[in-house]
Amino acid sequence: MPLPRGLRSRCEKILSNLPIPDPFSADAFADALAEHRGRPISMHPLPSTADTAAHTGLWVPLASVDAVFYESRTSLAHQTLIKLHELGHIAAGHQPDYNPEMIQQAFPDMEPRYVAKLFGLPRASYDSVEEQEAETIALLLASRLGSGRGTTPDGKRLTATLAHPVRQDYGTAGTR
Ligand SMILES: [Zn+2]
Repeated sequence: MPLPRGLRSRCEKILSNLPIPDPFSADAFADALAEHRGRPISMHPLPSTADTAAHTGLWVPLASVDAVFYESRTSLAHQTLIKLHELGHIAAGHQPDYNPEMIQQAFPDMEPRYVAKLFGLPRASYDSVEEQEAETIALLLASRLGSGRGTTPDGKRLTATLAHPVRQDYGTAGTR
């Protein structure tokens, strides 16, 4: 499927302003994006009780962390695309598409009043342009998987720094 030209160039511009780990992985990109935004991003599998027909991924901004939930009962490649899609929303500066009903579906044990208090009033989900942007960013990023350009010592060091910013003091960066 050819992408609309404006959409693709808009997404490429967004990515050109962000640190892209090399070699690339969704988790390394999440770490780099968090470092860039100055806000931690934590990745979690959706609870097994979640209604995954309704959504396979979810970005929930909490007070001190952006939590990204992804469907884990699917192939690793699909999990990666789900993660990159949610990270694409964050990278593009969208407003997250959570609302208390969605949270309730994902976390049925959570008290509804608590959900409303924690996550605010219901809002419309993303418009289709934002969905296209998130998906395009995910596909552009996925094309970097296995690029293998980070095989030089400098590239490895840079990637390790981006992926494990708090570990570099211990001299273990780059060993994973
Ligand atoms: Zn989306």
